[in-house]
Amino acid sequence: MRELKIAVVGGGAAGMLASIVAARNGAEVLVLEQLPRVGKKLLATGNGRCNLTNINMNIRSFHGSNVNFAISALKKFDQRSAMDFFEDLGIHCVVEGEGKVFPASGQASSVLDVLRFEMERLGVKEICDARVESVSYGKKGFKINVKDRDSMWVDKVILTTGGKANPSLGANGSGYELAKAFGHKIIEPFPSLVKLKLDAPFLKSLSGAKIDGEAAIEVDGKVLRKESGEILFTDYGLSGPPVMQLSRIAGEHLRMGKRVNIALDLFPDMSFEELEDLLERRTYLREDKPFDFSFVGLINKRFINVLLKEAGISDLHMPCRYVTEDDMKAIANKMKRWVMSVSGTQSWSEAQVTAGGVDVSHINPETMESKIAPGLYFAGEIIDIDGDCGGFNLQWAWSSGYIAGLSASSK
Ligand SMILES: Cc1cc2nc3c(=O)[nH]c(=O)nc-3n(C[C@H](O)[C@H](O)[C@H](O)COP(=O)(O)OP(=O)(O)OC[C@H]3O[C@@H](n4cnc5c(N)ncnc54)[C@H](O)[C@@H]3O)c2cc1C
Repeated sequence: MRELKIAVVGGGAAGMLASIVAARNGAEVLVLEQLPRVGKKLLATGNGRCNLTNINMNIRSFHGSNVNFAISALKKFDQRSAMDFFEDLGIHCVVEGEGKVFPASGQASSVLDVLRFEMERLGVKEICDARVESVSYGKKGFKINVKDRDSMWVDKVILTTGGKANPSLGANGSGYELAKAFGHKIIEPFPSLVKLKLDAPFLKSLSGAKIDGEAAIEVDGKVLRKESGEILFTDYGLSGPPVMQLSRIAGEHLRMGKRVNIALDLFPDMSFEELEDLLERRTYLREDKPFDFSFVGLINKRFINVLLKEAGISDLHMPCRYVTEDDMKAIANKMKRWVMSVSGTQSWSEAQVTAGGVDVSHINPETMESKIAPGLYFAGEIIDIDGDCGGFNLQWAWSSGYIAGLSASSK
């Protein structure tokens, strides 16, 4: 006989995992999802392939006002546990570059399929098109009001409504209001893993051009983080994996009113002197060549004029014989340290993750239970914990979902 009735509010990654764990532990579980079906965001993860975890798990890949809060959950249900959990459900996991783990099927939909199959097998009740408008505590336990439906009573509630990132996939911040009603504080959310906007005159002419290089975020002149890989110029700023990875630290400091720059190194594998030597050799190879033409074959042609102008070269077509040592130093300098001012991040609709959320100081890290409202639990992106790109955010959803599901269903 089932004793505990648990409502999981939000049928995303964290909610589905929590519901399975709680049902396996003997609870009667219902998942309330506002969309017509559960797991919509999961289908979009990893460009439709679902980067479900990362074998190189480290707390340094996570962020939040008190990131150490996440350590216990990430240890109790770690990346190996997540892979075993999914292998058991039928997902053969493959490890790709930088430790990223994907289903061998290459389909995020297969991850959703096995989760739903297991939920059904365990008798988890999915109630879709069910937007939870309020949760309160009364004599019969928790009272849940769902839009256009009768209210229901349950013994325990797990809030897994996600954050605010990419509202077209479901989460829109409504969970924060549910948490606030119990007295939980919300650390102001801001978009993370998102493209950066720049203040620069040349963006239109470079839109769509890519470089392989290194990007560094500098705040008040100090380098805070570097990432390398493919950097894409857009008509508003920069995109690409290194930029997305740096966006959290940029967004965090912009919100504090700090001056944030991004510095690109187009030749991270060469020292300044090596690059200067290379440019010198190429320039004096054919002294009659126009200076701008001497860069053809070295860098993407779309960058040549912009870089030369940015380096303060006024006559772009001068024959190479007239190029001075100072010109050479200026252009080498620009290629090694091309500094641009970051004016902001793109909006929620473009963001992959939410930084900020329910303040962890009122959540027990061992159980994910509210310290204010016993019987209320949290898991996933709704909590003020976010991860880097690479499978870390889903791992947080699995780990915290596991702990919340297990502790909510324990007698
Ligand atoms: C495009 C994209 C790609 C991504 N790729 C990856 C990746 O490859 N690897 C990775 O680790 N992370 C990735 N992420 C991040 C990851 O998907 C999220 O961190 C993770 O899904 C969060 O899980 P969650 O269950 O906490 O929230 P969500 O998955 O957002 O689920 C929350 C659910 O709650 C529902 N809900 C909200 N409010 C209510 C309410 N009031 N009543 C009822 N239901 C409600 C929502 O509709 C939603 O279904 C990606 C994100 C995006 C947007």
